Amino acid sequence: MLKIALQSKGRLNEDSLDLLKSIGIDIDEPKRKFLSKAKNFNIEALYMRDDDIPQLVESGTAGLGIVGLNEVAEKGADVEIAAKLGFGACRISLAIPKTEEYTGLSYFEGKRIATSYPNILAKFLKENGINAKIEIITGSVEISPAAGIAEAIFDIVSSGSTLVSNGLVEVERVFESEAVLIANKNITDEERATLNEILFRIDSEKLSRGKKYLLMNLPTSSLDEAVKILPAMRSPTVMPLASEGWCSLHSVVEEASLWEKVRQLKAIGAEGILVIDLDKIII
Ligand code: ATP
Ligand code: MG
Repeated sequence: MLKIALQSKGRLNEDSLDLLKSIGIDIDEPKRKFLSKAKNFNIEALYMRDDDIPQLVESGTAGLGIVGLNEVAEKGADVEIAAKLGFGACRISLAIPKTEEYTGLSYFEGKRIATSYPNILAKFLKENGINAKIEIITGSVEISPAAGIAEAIFDIVSSGSTLVSNGLVEVERVFESEAVLIANKNITDEERATLNEILFRIDSEKLSRGKKYLLMNLPTSSLDEAVKILPAMRSPTVMPLASEGWCSLHSVVEEASLWEKVRQLKAIGAEGILVIDLDKIII
């Protein structure tokens, strides 16, 4: 059976299981088991540390995996990046003590840089012709400058608060990452069909993210204006109402612009506006 390697615990575990659940693939949380079969889909989860997932997928022990793009790049794994998943967003950046004056990339010449991502860093330094000493540290990289281990760090940043609390400042964003679905390059045709089904469902799920379904009653005379306010996927759905001169209008809107649209629609006479959670958009 096709296996999908998932992080057993940590930042990506819950979002990975939530994504799979939202596309109809219900897998038990890890608890003590490292293998867990989906209840309603022909796939089995293999729970691992995220560091091991790229190699497991490259070797085919698991046909699929969900892991940060940063881990795939660091391990140099030869796998297919089948989809970007839109969660686990972070970057790997160079940071220096805030008391130092940053003079550009040449600042790092001859310096020691602490990191858990030596391969990504080595590639970046080489591309930029910088000679620096890479100090490999597996945890708490951010304390390295204060501990005298290095003059700079190369580490994961998301909000930046860890840097601030360690008196560091981000000076170069080097690598942008998010969780990705990876696939072994030699999966069977049958496994490929399963992957395609997963990708199709992920697309539908992604399309519905940040969107709401909107329906309202509207004077028929305002219809043209409403269509301008609501450029739906094709065009809004219009249905007649029993009371003459009124119609029911249905559309999909971006959550970010929802209240602005509602204000404009009310101004042209919309009433009884319903905002409904949208689960999937299948096109
Ligand atoms: P494991 O025990 O599985 O090895 P870990 O401690 O190496 O876990 P986590 O801290 O759980 O890893 O992070 C997993 C992934 O989450 C990272 O590789 C990265 O892709 C992503 N991520 C997103 N934001 C952050 C962040 N602020 N710090 C660390 N990782 C982040
Ligand atoms: Mg790890």
